[in-house]
Amino acid sequence: MSIAQVALDTPLPRTFDYLIPAACPLGTEDIGRRVRVSFGRRELWGILVGLADRSELPPEQLKPLLSVDRVLPPLPASLLALARFAADYYHYPYGACLLSLLPPALKRPVTPRPPPAYAYALTPAGIAAAQRLSPRATAQRRLAAHLMAGPVAAAELSGLKTTLRDWLKRGLIAAVKTPPRSPCHFTPEVAPTLGRGQAEAVGAILAKTDHFAAWLLFGVTGSGKTEVYLRLIEAVLGRGRQALVLVPEIHLTPQLTERFRRRYPAARLVSLHSGLSDGERYANWLACLNGGADIVLGTRLAVFAPLQRLGLIVVDEEHDPSYKQMEGLRYSARDVAVWRARQAGVPVVLGSATPALETWLNAQQGRYRRLDLPERAGAAALPEIRLVDTRTDRPRQGLSAALLAALEENLSRGAQSLVFINRRGYAPTLLCNACGHVTTCPRCAAHLVLHRQKGGFRLQCHHCGLTRPPPPSCPECGALDLRASGQGTQRLEETLAERFPEARILRVDRDSVARKGRFAAVRDAVHEGEVDILVGTQILAKGHDFPRLTLVGVVGADGALLSADYRAGERLFAQLMQVAGRAGRGGDPGRVLVQTAYPHHPLYQALVRHDYPAYAAQALAERRAAEFPPYVRQAMLRVDARSDEAAQAFLEAARALALELAQGVTVFDPAPALLARVANRSRWQLLTQSRSRSRLQAFLAAWVQRLRDLPASGLNWILDVDPLEF
Ligand code: ADP
Ligand code: ZN
Repeated sequence: MSIAQVALDTPLPRTFDYLIPAACPLGTEDIGRRVRVSFGRRELWGILVGLADRSELPPEQLKPLLSVDRVLPPLPASLLALARFAADYYHYPYGACLLSLLPPALKRPVTPRPPPAYAYALTPAGIAAAQRLSPRATAQRRLAAHLMAGPVAAAELSGLKTTLRDWLKRGLIAAVKTPPRSPCHFTPEVAPTLGRGQAEAVGAILAKTDHFAAWLLFGVTGSGKTEVYLRLIEAVLGRGRQALVLVPEIHLTPQLTERFRRRYPAARLVSLHSGLSDGERYANWLACLNGGADIVLGTRLAVFAPLQRLGLIVVDEEHDPSYKQMEGLRYSARDVAVWRARQAGVPVVLGSATPALETWLNAQQGRYRRLDLPERAGAAALPEIRLVDTRTDRPRQGLSAALLAALEENLSRGAQSLVFINRRGYAPTLLCNACGHVTTCPRCAAHLVLHRQKGGFRLQCHHCGLTRPPPPSCPECGALDLRASGQGTQRLEETLAERFPEARILRVDRDSVARKGRFAAVRDAVHEGEVDILVGTQILAKGHDFPRLTLVGVVGADGALLSADYRAGERLFAQLMQVAGRAGRGGDPGRVLVQTAYPHHPLYQALVRHDYPAYAAQALAERRAAEFPPYVRQAMLRVDARSDEAAQAFLEAARALALELAQGVTVFDPAPALLARVANRSRWQLLTQSRSRSRLQAFLAAWVQRLRDLPASGLNWILDVDPLEF
């Protein structure tokens, strides 16, 4: 074999041939290795994906490989196959797909050295010191709490860098070079006795761990789904296999990591998510590739972790939209997880209190097997959900009298409350009282959002990042009468602080936890009872366990009911069930108040009864009647261009090609995207759909080839298979 077939990160959907230098023979066992090649005038890292005797190109046109990385083990064949599947299904170039699965560090010209310390562990002196810490040494106590359960990956301590350095200097902790599997300093947490539903679920799944099966674990919030995952993981680790656990949100990884570590201190736990530094992510990925990970916990990108002994995949909160990547390879990590489990012949468990309608239908049709956990674990009961009719109880500054009274009462009992509003900033719009003009972004088809900052107010675009001071007068009519209209987290925080001056109020949204480690501090403060009222966005809704929280108020939810996006209702229902699920997870019963002007809407009626199946039945009936997913399969061709005309012209040409090829596939007309302009780029889209997935796939494969020949200068296009956004 003298020819190396190399996958490269280029838009061209093929591999590239290179000569194998005689001094550097390669065999089939080298497939999956990283190779350095020259490509045009650049040098690139690629992956060796095949060997051949000859090339279609004459030998004199072929360049030799520049070098072969023999330090990094070859990527496992299963990972190459997974990339192949993703490239085919999402109609994305194979090389670009494969290279996008590698940690960014491996694409740099000079391969970084693995970070000096993989993890840190307490020394004997450190163990002694940890037991003598003063209650006020909060950072040190947090560090000690992490490390008491055994060595902790450097990545998970990134919020505690200063303390860490200090302890290293004092010899209280030591660096550990390899992924830790080492004696722990305390006995593992005792597992609770499983409830009946839990025991049945665990039993059913464990009865079939040696081949593929897709399970839907349908359990209300607090029903103990995580406990089920823990038992399954234990069984899988016991057989020397690895468990891959996906969560929707970076902020959830520390909480779960802690829980896993308390239970299985000896297991080598590795996290993978985009919140890690390049070095940390490289180290963790390497630990996976080297077989040094027992449990891999991560966000959507972890679904591509290089694992050779995979025994189980868990997708927690499987309905969450953040499993869908919205740029580049637009994959759904949940769907890839199911495919990967099938490929590996292992079970995949999809957990949710509000499954995606796709998943629910799959379960109804028998493709997934459903297991129910209808009750909360232990003594906790589901919270009571009440609707506050804002047509009669008119909110002032966003808050109804009923919600204010409930907050007051909760405060006097010393219990915690959460006010949920899914809008960050001070107010969503700046409005002219004279002419009704709303300040918009000059670069996007969107309103500017008013934010309060140290120096005063600023307007911010949530789509392109533009910020500017508010205008002194209306740009339209010149009137000076501009006012903030609507509610955001900052404004609610302000109103609550005026209304309850004695309360300790904490705002939690993307802006307030932007800095690394901030979210962990928030979580600790809530657990320690240092907060009375939380004001927050969906960041707080997902999965967190705050035992003292007994009241949740929901503000401004109605907007989603009026959205042009047909999935908005599904997302709203899931979000409200989830945020309601934060209440009453400790011993005390929880209460939820939802402010709405549509109390009779079927969505809210199902919510009050905690009745996801009723909601799903109604939503699925609507989808079926309207021929929307999951009853059809869709693919969206998205374009952005300098002008509407350019975008539209490209899509008209694309449509003409599609009409030639489409059989059993509906091709719609080009239309502007819901957000029609971002950063001065016009965004248009063309929807195609079919009842048959295989027909749609065959059509897309042919269409994409033809699309690559269309003139497209100055514009970007991408095919979005199973799109979630309009
Ligand atoms: P979910 O993931 O379904 O929201 P969790 O697994 O977080 O639920 O469980 C909610 C709470 O119930 C946790 O505090 C957990 O420790 C507790 N729990 C789970 N299973 C049991 C059980 N069998 N007995 C007692 N408590 C349990
Ligand atoms: Zn903008």
